[in-house]
Amino acid sequence: MTTAEELRTRTADLLAAHDPAATEPLEFLRARFDAGLAWVHFPPGLGGLGAPRALQAVVDAELAAAGAPDNDPRRIGIGLGMAAPTVLRFGTEEQKQRFLRPLWTGEEVWCQLFSEPGAGSDLAALATRAVHEAGDAEGGGDGPGGHWTVDGQKVWTSSAHLARWAILLARTDPDVPKHQGISYFVCDMTDPGVDVRPLRQLTGEAEFNEVFLTGVRIPDAHRLGAVGEGWKIAQTTLNNERVAIGGHRTPREGGLIGLLADVWREQPGARTHELHQRLLQGWTDAEVLRLTAERLRQQLAVGQPGPEGAAAKLAFARLAQQLTGLEVELLAEEGLGYGDWTMSRPELVDFTGRDAGYRYLRAKGNSIEGGSSEILRNIIAERVLGLPAESRSDKDVPWKESAR
Ligand SMILES: Cc1cc2nc3c(=O)[nH]c(=O)nc-3n(C[C@H](O)[C@H](O)[C@H](O)COP(=O)(O)OP(=O)(O)OC[C@H]3O[C@@H](n4cnc5c(N)ncnc54)[C@H](O)[C@@H]3O)c2cc1C
Repeated sequence: MTTAEELRTRTADLLAAHDPAATEPLEFLRARFDAGLAWVHFPPGLGGLGAPRALQAVVDAELAAAGAPDNDPRRIGIGLGMAAPTVLRFGTEEQKQRFLRPLWTGEEVWCQLFSEPGAGSDLAALATRAVHEAGDAEGGGDGPGGHWTVDGQKVWTSSAHLARWAILLARTDPDVPKHQGISYFVCDMTDPGVDVRPLRQLTGEAEFNEVFLTGVRIPDAHRLGAVGEGWKIAQTTLNNERVAIGGHRTPREGGLIGLLADVWREQPGARTHELHQRLLQGWTDAEVLRLTAERLRQQLAVGQPGPEGAAAKLAFARLAQQLTGLEVELLAEEGLGYGDWTMSRPELVDFTGRDAGYRYLRAKGNSIEGGSSEILRNIIAERVLGLPAESRSDKDVPWKESAR
């Protein structure tokens, strides 16, 4: 097993061979991937060393101290948090070799084509169709495994305007119940049938989009897992998504609670007993969430995330809304001002680098994106606590006969 000491030595070797001050950032990131120091728990040859996941922190600390460039994880969060663990678990060797390196270095941005009008919380109701054409030796259907033709509409697709690839769920068999007839694909966002249109949101900017898919051709070689097994594979993506949103690493009194504590210190005139109580409650909740996220990451070191990640995502969303609301209250009139309503297409969600008004408005989406808080409570009730399940009348009905 790889030890912390061995990782320090490997990191030192990487730095000696590629001085960060004299190496192009992209070249450095590629070399880091090839040295197995990108995500140390991934297999050798795919950016890792099969080492315990917890040891990533050792590498990250050494590289940060040396001023090495990072791959800007916030910009490529969907690729890192959702696509990569799914490709690693269900992809063919060829898919892993093709997709993981440029995903990790940030050369290729990913987005997630899951939600549809009419299939958000009830994602398994999705209507985007994928129809197979078999391949033949003469190049019919473009050769051996053939290809799929995809038609449908997706919505709320974060980063679609930046993405090279998308993870895509589409219905491949309308004759079986809704959870069974779905398959999972990697969609090329440069295909001429992909039309990305911005959706302006509460903050005034457009981080996400609606995406129209018309005759999009996806080679069968870009299918992840077996035909009809897409729902099972999507569970891996969704469980990882909740950890990616709710389980990120923040230092003590970091992130939103740090900003709020600073405002409290700088605004003595705004202090009241009631606001102080709320600040203390927020600080305690932030600390509990930080430690819970740490525990979640340690669990991840020994396997895939389970439904427990729903609790961290739920708590994160609630806390973000409470803390940003309190910050606006403390800042009074200044808090109500909003920096810039100009329509823009940001590359990332920047909670700490923007003003209080932005934080307050953007946090509203936290209880919807990655599964709404109501749905996460259902997951916790049913799959963590084992309480009776919601009644689902369309569970055994062929999808094409279900009410939509
Ligand atoms: C900022 C942001 C970014 C997003 N990015 C992406 C992305 O990149 N890719 C992507 O595929 N999707 C994305 N989404 C979509 C997101 O996953 C969906 O909006 C979410 O799953 C909710 O679905 P819906 O909007 O269709 O709401 P609906 O399903 O219509 O729900 C409406 C309301 O009813 C409640 N509700 C529904 N069913 C139940 C139930 N059974 N029990 C209790 N309450 C229920 C919901 O909780 C919600 O409050 C994003 C959303 C946001 C806000």
